Amino acid sequence: MSEPSDGEELAELSATLKRHLERRQQAGLRHLPKTSAALPKPVTPSEIPNVMAGTELDMLAETSVAVQAASLEDLRAAIGDCQRCKLCSGRTNIVFGVGNPHAKLMFVGEGPGRDEDLKGEPFVGRAGQLLTDIITKGMGLKREDVYICNVVKCRPPENRNPEPDEVAACEPFLKKQIDIIGPDIIVGLGKFAVQTLLNSKVPISKLRGIWASYHGIQLMPTFHPAYLLRNPADKKLVWEDIKQVIKVMRGENA
Ligand code: URA
Repeated sequence: MSEPSDGEELAELSATLKRHLERRQQAGLRHLPKTSAALPKPVTPSEIPNVMAGTELDMLAETSVAVQAASLEDLRAAIGDCQRCKLCSGRTNIVFGVGNPHAKLMFVGEGPGRDEDLKGEPFVGRAGQLLTDIITKGMGLKREDVYICNVVKCRPPENRNPEPDEVAACEPFLKKQIDIIGPDIIVGLGKFAVQTLLNSKVPISKLRGIWASYHGIQLMPTFHPAYLLRNPADKKLVWEDIKQVIKVMRGENA
């Protein structure tokens, strides 16, 4: 393929900026970050204002910095006061994740609900209590022994499903969290977590209970605790899945 001409690059850049401005407008963001219009005196490179601030290209650059983080603290700091997708406009807190940074077992849910948004911690509402019971009463572990996070880190309005652009904006951070923690086992809670991790559209009802692999890490898909609150009869299926996880953690064959 031949190199794009200057004109083509300019057209691409202007299309990117236009898309970005339209997305900000849809998200209700009316103002761009302030940049200086003129430079009053010769400046050093570190003094040059970031004229790409708030643009899609700038966000991509910020995301690539985040995915080079070496620790969970670095990753959280790189996520910053995230404005990478429209969920930022409705959130109270970014719900990054909680638990043991060296956990062998990780739970991945969909996204924060109201209680989680207010507290800044995943799975603290009614569904969270059920997950806590699974961990503590079912598995004999403490919440602090495992790591718990979500696919998207900001609450979708009215607890709607996360949209593809929101998942795409947040997924690099989930991947990096998994990479830093390096668990032996991931339990994927519900359709969104499992389909995102496996890059699959297969229904959760078909995937649950069957070991899968996320880049070599054993992944057990199961139903989401919020689904279990509505369908308590299916708790026994989740218990079957959790028993398989316990066996593997004990070094027994699943
Ligand atoms: N549901 C989720 O998927 N995650 C939470 O943190 C809470 C409820």
